[in-house]
Amino acid sequence: MRDGREKVEIAVVGAGPAGSAAAEAAARLGADVLLIERKREIGTPVQCGGFLPEANELEALLPKAKIPEALAEVPEELILHRTRVQRIYAPSGRSKEFPVLGRVLDRRSFDRHLAWRAARAGARVLVDVRAELLEGSLRLSGRASGTVEADVVIGADGPGSATARGARLAARQEVGVCLEYEMAGVDIDPDAAEMYFGTGSAPGGYAWIIPLGEDVANVGVGTRPTYLRGRRLRDLLDSFISEHPIAKDKLRGGSVTAVMRGLVPAGGMPPAIQGGNVLLAGDAAGMVMATSGGGIPLAMVGGQAAGEVAARHVGGTASLREYTTRIATEMGREVDNSVRIREVVDKIMNSDRLMDALIATMPADQMKAVMRGQIPGALEKVGDLVAGR
Ligand SMILES: Cc1cc2nc3c(=O)[nH]c(=O)nc-3n(C[C@H](O)[C@H](O)[C@H](O)COP(=O)(O)OP(=O)(O)OC[C@H]3O[C@@H](n4cnc5c(N)ncnc54)[C@H](O)[C@@H]3O)c2cc1C
Repeated sequence: MRDGREKVEIAVVGAGPAGSAAAEAAARLGADVLLIERKREIGTPVQCGGFLPEANELEALLPKAKIPEALAEVPEELILHRTRVQRIYAPSGRSKEFPVLGRVLDRRSFDRHLAWRAARAGARVLVDVRAELLEGSLRLSGRASGTVEADVVIGADGPGSATARGARLAARQEVGVCLEYEMAGVDIDPDAAEMYFGTGSAPGGYAWIIPLGEDVANVGVGTRPTYLRGRRLRDLLDSFISEHPIAKDKLRGGSVTAVMRGLVPAGGMPPAIQGGNVLLAGDAAGMVMATSGGGIPLAMVGGQAAGEVAARHVGGTASLREYTTRIATEMGREVDNSVRIREVVDKIMNSDRLMDALIATMPADQMKAVMRGQIPGALEKVGDLVAGR
């Protein structure tokens, strides 16, 4: 398409996990779907740790969600590594762990694989094309230009979504900023995905080590800009690698083979994820667990729901308003709880002493529940204590 005007039933902006899941779901139901991605190569550059819990863990994470097939069944060649446990380090260096079976994805290939699935289902894919929602139409620029009039627009264009702004659905969002290195030649525990808390390395957030193999890992730090107080993210990550009492022995000898950075929504979903003929899915709709920053599963569950509701809407059997209800059922409680938990932990995280006490006193199974956005009574009590209730 060049300088033309095109009419489609469903236009999806962004071919990340949310957009490709939406395009595949809508195309499978017979809709005419256009998937538009501004990157030249879907999935590149990577902005992710690639950690994805196994299917049974996902069912426990989102018990009411319809888990997309592409999320449950990832082809083996896209899984770089598997982990067995999640380990949490307190600022003191003491740790606790609980079992979580995890898959570490080759995220670059995974995103391409999802777009291929959408294309095979019948969606048309445009890469190297930016879409901007202006007065209800999508203006394209890049490898194709022109205007697309869609019956339904699905905004799956990630954190800071321009589609959300164009549809006046964007809320002031608290975002996390992340910096991550892929490191080779490290001396890590290949069985464990690790999170490190402490005001020295990760004020207001955490640092992580996600194994990609026996001696290769994604090593990152995520926090929120208000916690940086003049420090640079790069300095935090570099000092985590060279100075953290536990992590330095694992990482100091490694080489950085890739640098990745990105934003993660940290404040939950905006008040509206549907307005007029626009639906938002994935990071564009704040569908991220605020406790961990994990967004791949929610993006795909949300994308699938958006695609299905949109396709049924153009087929005349659903109202777009059903999308909001469906998302509330499938993930609303978990996302809201994860934000509440994060707000409590925020207060505790300002003090390494309190964080040490929290991690020391909380049983490992409750810690797992907290990470999943389920609020065990213990954390509510801690929240009351911190709030002086
Ligand atoms: C450093 C880092 C590490 C992370 N690690 C993990 C992890 O280990 N596990 C996990 O579950 N989550 C992780 N996340 C979060 C996860 O990456 C996101 O939640 C997930 O990618 C959300 O998918 P999405 O499809 O909503 O958005 P995205 O993956 O951001 O995709 C949005 C797409 O839209 C495209 N786009 C944007 N604007 C336009 C436009 N105007 N026109 C056309 N295309 C456009 C973008 O190019 C992009 O391809 C991490 C995030 C970061 C930053």
